[in-house]
Amino acid sequence: MSHTIAPPYPQRLDRVRQALSDLGADAILIMGPANRRYLSGFTASDGAIGESSGAVLITTGSAALLTSSLYYEQARQEVTDLEPVELRGRWKRRLPEKLKEMGVRRLAFERDYTLYGEYEDLRQGLEELEAGSELVPVKGLVEDLRLRKGEAERELMREAARIADEAYGRVTGELAPGVSEREVARRLDEAMVELGADGPSFETIVAAGLNSARPHHEPGEYVLREGEPVIIDMGARYRGYCSDMTRSFCLRQADGRYRELYDAVLRAHEQAKQAARAGAGGKEMDAVARDILTEAGLEQEFSHSLGHGVGLDVHEKPSLSKESEDTLEAGIVVTIEPGVYIADWGGIRIEDTVLVTETGHEVWTHAPKDIVI
Ligand code: ZN
Ligand code: ZN
Repeated sequence: MSHTIAPPYPQRLDRVRQALSDLGADAILIMGPANRRYLSGFTASDGAIGESSGAVLITTGSAALLTSSLYYEQARQEVTDLEPVELRGRWKRRLPEKLKEMGVRRLAFERDYTLYGEYEDLRQGLEELEAGSELVPVKGLVEDLRLRKGEAERELMREAARIADEAYGRVTGELAPGVSEREVARRLDEAMVELGADGPSFETIVAAGLNSARPHHEPGEYVLREGEPVIIDMGARYRGYCSDMTRSFCLRQADGRYRELYDAVLRAHEQAKQAARAGAGGKEMDAVARDILTEAGLEQEFSHSLGHGVGLDVHEKPSLSKESEDTLEAGIVVTIEPGVYIADWGGIRIEDTVLVTETGHEVWTHAPKDIVI
């Protein structure tokens, strides 16, 4: 697949600068990996906690990707609209020096992606240099810019969804009793990579039998058995962008109870999806599904929220839940994923990823919703 649309980095940087002037800050340091990638195109992930691969520094007149020697070459290749800057040695010293050199007085930083230790080091470093900079915590600034997906992003996300659909079809087409959850997950991951994915967008969930009563079960040695419920929750990452989809089924045959519960979850899923359009509230959409499941006597069994935004992160804004204060806008991509979980029986969840449009929505995940496989 060829990608014709270049990500509009200059426009994205300008939108950050706009927010900066509203904050009265003269620079912002972006540490969140997805935010950093969104603004620069730098694809490196962080190592462990506290092992950052780089930071984007945006001032009113400049934009740089600060990185260490380990990533500098990669940054030079990937980053086109910002200046790649190599900080040699310890960041603890180099970063405050760089900020002082640039004359930054009021620096905004991401409170949700800056470790307390990093904050302390930066504050101390600036004090020692008598740089006199003020540190201003900000929350959700770039995340808000990422809410509405542009054409370049939509193209990649559609492809991520298509890859997961095809991998699901391939693997479930050959499912037989006796295969372990872990083996099914492995086959799905392998198929997604073969189909061009960077990898899975999160750890693939395959939950069979009673394990399906655990919404985020980690696949293990348990084997799939005829007539038992199975949940597969999977997504592909394609050039950084995620898809997210869940299918539930019984292997070979399903009993009456399974069919009844499946029908209730599917109705909740379809009705909530129908409600997806610009202007719909996250709380209101969650209620559409919750009311249907409550009527079916499954209020307690629907133990999580209806859905979430998807993009560079598999879970991002907005939230579709009982407590959501978010409103959908055209260009936002969300999941619709009602589910029911019964401890001594199993579970059912059905999830699609959809693009919200002015008049409704566009479904991106198309794997069949067969009750029996
Ligand atoms: Zn999912
Ligand atoms: Zn999801």
